[in-house]
Amino acid sequence: MTGGASADRVAVIGAGTMGHGIAQVAAVAGCRVELVDTAVQRVQASLEHIRANLDEGVARGKVTAAARDAALSNINGITDIAAAVHDADVVIEAVPEQMQLKVDVLARVAAAAPPDAFLASNTSGLSISEMQRALPDPDRIVGLHFFNPVHIMALVEVVHGQDTSDEVLDAAVAFARRLGKEPIVVKDSPGFASTRLGVALGLEAMRMLEEGVASAEDIDRAMELGYRHPMGPLRLSDLIGLDVRLDIARHMHAAFGGERFRPPAILERMVADGRLGRKSGAGFFAWND
Ligand code: NAD
Repeated sequence: MTGGASADRVAVIGAGTMGHGIAQVAAVAGCRVELVDTAVQRVQASLEHIRANLDEGVARGKVTAAARDAALSNINGITDIAAAVHDADVVIEAVPEQMQLKVDVLARVAAAAPPDAFLASNTSGLSISEMQRALPDPDRIVGLHFFNPVHIMALVEVVHGQDTSDEVLDAAVAFARRLGKEPIVVKDSPGFASTRLGVALGLEAMRMLEEGVASAEDIDRAMELGYRHPMGPLRLSDLIGLDVRLDIARHMHAAFGGERFRPPAILERMVADGRLGRKSGAGFFAWND
């Protein structure tokens, strides 16, 4: 089994919001990256996005022009999964959040990747253990949950599925560090660590607003000024999208039962009214951008 710190050949499947970011940080770290999507135009658009990110990094003095050029030369766009993974050390899937799609993609990867490669899913909430039950060699499957935007956010949750081997877990942690990230190891459980805590705080803030404990501004200021959160839970919910928050709350409520994650009535009502947060112009706050 490959060590993550020496994982030089990386394949990323799905070149959308997350895939292009993961490809970028891996290329900047000196890995050779195969970036896969279903159509040439999608791959091209993703490569353009990476170029624009790196150009901005150069303009801000965060990346040298030479490092940008080296990173870009490390990435190859491709549409053939088998060709992309045939000599990979690490494969990360970042296709849409649907269990069957992820299992199908990982099955194709497993059939074509070297036996000592480890295979990671960037799922933000699906069960890694469930993927393992549907795939051959479950010991080499692990979760690597990056955050958006990948080149800015430091956290990576390394998700320990039921059958993930210790060797693969260690390799995944080393790989995340190699990309300049701060990995935490989390057992495969609903919401992992970050979503479970973030959603709990957001839902409680909504219930406090419903009960008239304080205004939305002041509830947020409690966390910003009292706990040094960079942004309060209600504004953050607006940014994430209240429909997305509601979906996650329903998923967590179904998983855990009880009252903890039951979606508050105010959230249900706002989503039904089309008040989805920033993307719709209004949520707990007004958004004009
Ligand atoms: P996205 O829709 O932006 O990108 C997904 C890409 O996968 C698309 O370009 C699509 O064409 C491609 N794709 C679909 N089927 C494919 C296939 N069979 N082969 C190759 N490519 C295929 O989605 P995203 O926001 O990047 O999310 C990807 C994953 O990352 C999801 O599991 C999501 O839950 C997770 N995630 C997302 C975020 C976020 O903030 N967007 C954060 C953390 C984790």
